[in-house]
Amino acid sequence: MPTGTLHIDLEAVAANWSALDRLSAPACETAATVKADAYGLGVTQVAPRLFAQGCRAFFVATADEGLELRRTLGPEPRIYAYYGHMPGDTLTLQRADVVPLICSLPQLERHLEALPRHPFGLALDVGMNRLGLKRDEWAAVAELALRARPVLVMAHLSSADTPDAPHSAAELARFHDLTDGIDVPRSLAATGGTLLGPEYHFDMTRPGIGLYGGLPYAAADPAVTLDLPVIACFDAAAGETVGYNATWTAASPVRLATVAAGYADGLHRALAPGLDVMAGPVPCPVVGRISMDLMTIDISHLDRDPETIRILGPNHGVDALAAQAGTIGYEMLTGLGRRYARQYRGSVSKKV
Ligand SMILES: *Cc1c(COP(=O)(O)O)cnc(C)c1O
Repeated sequence: MPTGTLHIDLEAVAANWSALDRLSAPACETAATVKADAYGLGVTQVAPRLFAQGCRAFFVATADEGLELRRTLGPEPRIYAYYGHMPGDTLTLQRADVVPLICSLPQLERHLEALPRHPFGLALDVGMNRLGLKRDEWAAVAELALRARPVLVMAHLSSADTPDAPHSAAELARFHDLTDGIDVPRSLAATGGTLLGPEYHFDMTRPGIGLYGGLPYAAADPAVTLDLPVIACFDAAAGETVGYNATWTAASPVRLATVAAGYADGLHRALAPGLDVMAGPVPCPVVGRISMDLMTIDISHLDRDPETIRILGPNHGVDALAAQAGTIGYEMLTGLGRRYARQYRGSVSKKV
């Protein structure tokens, strides 16, 4: 095993999708957000499993991600792109049958000129100030845009991961204000909004992180386990130091192990000091700095040298690891590098 092995449980991803689907009424469609290579888990594996589970609508960020997904899933499911219709996207959107979520006036103009008969959706801004038509822009173009028959009107909540945040109710009210009475399917909720309750669901929810086992969906089945091979085990005397800048000094004779992953594999330097990894059931502290491809752990208390250690697992998940690095599960998952061998449980092959 030359590199770490990322075990990805597609059955857990599928079960999480179904559980989130059950939170909304049958008339509300549950889509899946699979941008950024399905949050680093591998879209060519994740999307076919979700399709087999019944998912028929997928959201990606870019038109190019949409093209890859279309090649993976074939013609049936609807694919939406959050970046909308960017300069240079026209042929890809057309070829891959991807629905751009138009989020600015120049995009609206570009789309209606370049692909007048190609389906599109509209993204409205309800408070996040990131993407989406602003209130006055929407007022100016709503009539024209609606005449062109958008297939979806969506917005995104700024603080849905924090149930007590006052922003969600205000943003919900704004979404109603902007869209009530129009005859177009509406979508507001990602994972957090799906958990906030039925008034946030509208016609379609589009969870991402909850599918992959991350907060705010605390009840999610964990979907990733990461095992790392040990390259070398050795003794060090009291007073010897470990790693770049010699930041850790052995207080007594110790046995150490060097493990095959580092910050280039998404294991941020900020994880140490303070991170424990697991040798079977036994926690072992990371000592010294995490370097690009390697980290060193203290195994003095083990009966024998481990061959592998586990850094992500069911009982120490992405959010715990993220918190240790001062970030969130989303960043931890999407940062897990390309060097790991990926092993999938529950893989389905989709013939297209
Ligand atoms: C990423 C994203 C989602 C999915 O969000 P999660 O919090 O991962 O469920 C939904 N909508 C938009 C606009 C997004 O950018």
